[in-house]
Amino acid sequence: MKELSLYIHIPFCVKKCLYCDFLSAPATKAAREQYLLALGYEIEARSEDYKDREVISIFFGGGTPSILTIEELTRLFTKIKSSYNLAKNCEISIEVNPGTVWDKSTFEAYRNLGINRLSIGLQSAVDKELKLLGRIHTYKDFKVTFEAARAAGFDDINVDLISAIPGQKKEDYLYTLNEVCALNPEHISAYSLIIEPGTAFYEDYRYLITDEDHEELDRELYVLTKEVLAENGYHRYEISNYSKEGHECRHNKVYWRRGDYLGLGLGAASLIGNKRFKNTSEFVMYNEAGGVAEYMDEETLSKSDEMQEFMILGLRLTEGVSKKYFAKYFGKDLEEVYGKVLEKGVNEGLLVSEGDKVYLTDRGLDVSNYVFAQF
Ligand code: SF4
Repeated sequence: MKELSLYIHIPFCVKKCLYCDFLSAPATKAAREQYLLALGYEIEARSEDYKDREVISIFFGGGTPSILTIEELTRLFTKIKSSYNLAKNCEISIEVNPGTVWDKSTFEAYRNLGINRLSIGLQSAVDKELKLLGRIHTYKDFKVTFEAARAAGFDDINVDLISAIPGQKKEDYLYTLNEVCALNPEHISAYSLIIEPGTAFYEDYRYLITDEDHEELDRELYVLTKEVLAENGYHRYEISNYSKEGHECRHNKVYWRRGDYLGLGLGAASLIGNKRFKNTSEFVMYNEAGGVAEYMDEETLSKSDEMQEFMILGLRLTEGVSKKYFAKYFGKDLEEVYGKVLEKGVNEGLLVSEGDKVYLTDRGLDVSNYVFAQF
């Protein structure tokens, strides 16, 4: 059976974080109920085209999926399980915001539903930074959530971190890294804060985007992340993602490997073969159409678009891309298409091309956007 991954978007949050540009907002109980009805319908209706597929991963993202009650999640799971063929070892992840779940019994209920991986959004272990970000929780809240998840038996937990928070000092970030490593999660995602237009942060801190000292600090914290996580036994398998052995995120690797994924829910994006498409981001339209409004931004990728994506996404992984796979999928040798780019990258010490593999060097990972632009 061909493989498929599912992404399920829950666009609700307790309150909007000040740096956030994700599709998320607080909602009334009635709006939430309407949305879940539409989402449940979409889950079922869209499955008709994927009866011959085996689902290898499901990711509940948001927003704050952990805002849903067990009863609401159960309704979604019932639809999913009756509509799709789930692989026996299907990876099922849910994003958890500390401050929404803190008791062992909720995590046990997650496990009973089949959820086997958690992604907990900590961002920082320094309370004043959490406050500045507009997060709803303290570091202590996070620890309660983390310990409850462990007590319920979760042994595959990601913790999200953000660096380059306005006003952050190197020692503050080091404190966050050390605190998190001491808890020993299986996976850590560590991204630099991006100040996005349209956010409250953009109003207050957009000057930082071009501030040289801030850029310098950002780079220092990036290097610190690599060093501290390596010292603590985390393997860097993607530019911003680190894991203990055997705990890479299968779902995210589908994105970087350009595997097929179906996005369900408001604004959710999909890639199926050479087609990219997206659900509407209009809440009312989504609900009124029972979750199956016409797709937006449908795009059929040309072979050359696909090749570019293959390289740019695949090189984010430290294991790089396979030349054999490229030749099999595209019917052309990688060297034939990108020979000059490879040669330049290798000469500049940014790329390695040996045997079946092409991958970024350490320096190439540091300046990955420059390398990607060559493709
Ligand atoms: S919890 Fe996540 S999705 Fe919700 S507002 Fe904060 S950053 Fe955005």
